[in-house]
Amino acid sequence: MELLTGILAKAGLAALGAITPCRLSILTFHRVHARADSIFPDELDAERFDQRMRFVAQTFNVLTLGQAISRLAAGSLPPRAMVITFDDGYADNVEVALPVLRRHGLAATFSVATGFLDGGRMWNDSVIECLRATAKDSLDLEAFGLRRLPVAEARDRRVAIEQLLSRIKYLTVAERDQAITRLQAICGVAALPRGLMMRTEQVRDLHRAGMEIGGHTVNHPILLSLTLAEAESEIVEGKRRLEAICDSPVDVFAYPNGIPGQDYTAEHAKLVEALGFRGAVTTARGVAQTGDDLFQLPRYTPWANSLAIFSMRLLMNQLHRDVELAPPRASQ
Ligand SMILES: [Zn+2]
Repeated sequence: MELLTGILAKAGLAALGAITPCRLSILTFHRVHARADSIFPDELDAERFDQRMRFVAQTFNVLTLGQAISRLAAGSLPPRAMVITFDDGYADNVEVALPVLRRHGLAATFSVATGFLDGGRMWNDSVIECLRATAKDSLDLEAFGLRRLPVAEARDRRVAIEQLLSRIKYLTVAERDQAITRLQAICGVAALPRGLMMRTEQVRDLHRAGMEIGGHTVNHPILLSLTLAEAESEIVEGKRRLEAICDSPVDVFAYPNGIPGQDYTAEHAKLVEALGFRGAVTTARGVAQTGDDLFQLPRYTPWANSLAIFSMRLLMNQLHRDVELAPPRASQ
């Protein structure tokens, strides 16, 4: 079945290649759990990731983001070009995903928010871990504009997490901190885990293993919620820290959250270029091709349980052009 899926996908991509110019699929990943997660069983675990990466290695020509940006600029993209990206800097990227990538001879680009290295935690994970750890059967979430929600079952916890995330996502950094403190009290959870994100030496290990490290700010703010000067400082300080850790230039960037017009604008794209990056990725869906704005490249998160659906979605994504691409920058 797996072999057949690979052959069909390759044939489909070759047929698409004959009628369309070379296109670049950029995949987005976040966590890769060692084992299936009880609250989010559909998220990637080591076994599924291994299966996906075997398919990718057999079917696509995988480049780092920096390599792909050079090839896009030169008009020399290989057929079936793909970039694998990981956002945020989860420790499981090093502990679980890296051995899989190496096993399949693949390089990937890891965009790391430096403020969470060495024991930090992103606000969304604080929400998830509060709900994971609570011993209560229901939570009074009126403080978040929600009703009392049941949390006895894993499925209930997932629903509560999703509702809380949507309430907290667009708050300021300070407001988010307050919200997490309040949620911890409501959940009756005294301490949250401190090992979710990479340690400094793990970033260095990734770089030494031939992986690419990209910028992702310090605190992962929504850039559009900051002044341009604050946004600049977030982007520059993240870049400098990563360059110091790796003793090497960091010249690719991923916008936090990454939705064009909602999380960042053309002004931020110009800023990223002015700060010495060679290109940047968004979360707008689609494939890239030569001529696209290198500072607003689209990406794709292929959520899917089965390999057959995963490969079909990658094929469909090859056709996904100019539908939700980022608007052009004011000046180039
Ligand atoms: Zn991110």
